[in-house]
Order: sequence, then structure tokens, then C-alpha cells
Amino acid sequence: MQLSTNFSLSEFTRSDTAKRLGIVNECSSVEQVLNLAYLCHTVLQPLRDRFGPIRITSGYRCPQLNDAVGGASNSQHMRGEAADIYLPTKAKGEEYYEFMKNLPAFDQLIWERSGGTYWIHVSIRRLGGNRKQVKSIVKN
Ligand SMILES: [Zn+2]
Repeated sequence: MQLSTNFSLSEFTRSDTAKRLGIVNECSSVEQVLNLAYLCHTVLQPLRDRFGPIRITSGYRCPQLNDAVGGASNSQHMRGEAADIYLPTKAKGEEYYEFMKNLPAFDQLIWERSGGTYWIHVSIRRLGGNRKQVKSIVKN
């Protein structure tokens, strides 16, 4: 199922961890799919239009997968409101980050680092109440 010009639902549900653990990571409500489509239209497609192909490393997570990857208990990934974006280089990541910071709406934009790996977590709430919160987190 296509969510926007260049993003399909399968990019948001595929997970190596889910595959390895035999977890079926599929959306369980229309709301979750609508949220992912909204995330594409408002954040990810504009990013893609500006920079070319974007790789999503984690999009939707069913509760079982969210537990398996150690996600927060109220993670927006479980509602289809968030995506983690692969950064080909740190410099390219910084360009993505600057671009998204200036988008009209998002809920959280988080620069995350674990060891030598960087990624960006971005979320948006389709029904409003977006905080435009920008921060960076180091995980170990
Ligand atoms: Zn995330």
C-alpha cells in the first residue's frame, strides 16, 4: 500500500528484529495507517523531495516488537506516529536535521546516538497537539 509518492507501508513495518523473533509486525488499526500516511505527507515526503531516497530503519512497531527493541512503553512508534531515519553520514544527517527543524509541524525531532551510530527519530500527531520538541539523546 502506497502512503505517499515515494513511501509504501511495507517500509514502515519491515523489521529484522521482528523477522528474527518470529513477530508479525503489522498495523492493527486504520488509525495507525492514517498516522503513518500523515507522517509521510507532512515530514518524510518533503525530506525525500529535498534529499532523494530516505531509508526508514524503524517505523510502526507492534507492542511485542516495541518490547523486543526496548522501546518506551508509550512509544509513538506503536501508534504509527514516528519513524527512525537512517543517516548515510553524520554530515548528511545534520542536513536532514536542519531541514526537518524548519518544517511547519512535527511533534518530536530527536538526534539519537548509540556508540558510533547516529539516527534521527521524528514524530507527528495527526490530530494535533504537536510540540515541536527538538533534542538529542545518547543511548548506550
Ligand atoms: Zn524512534
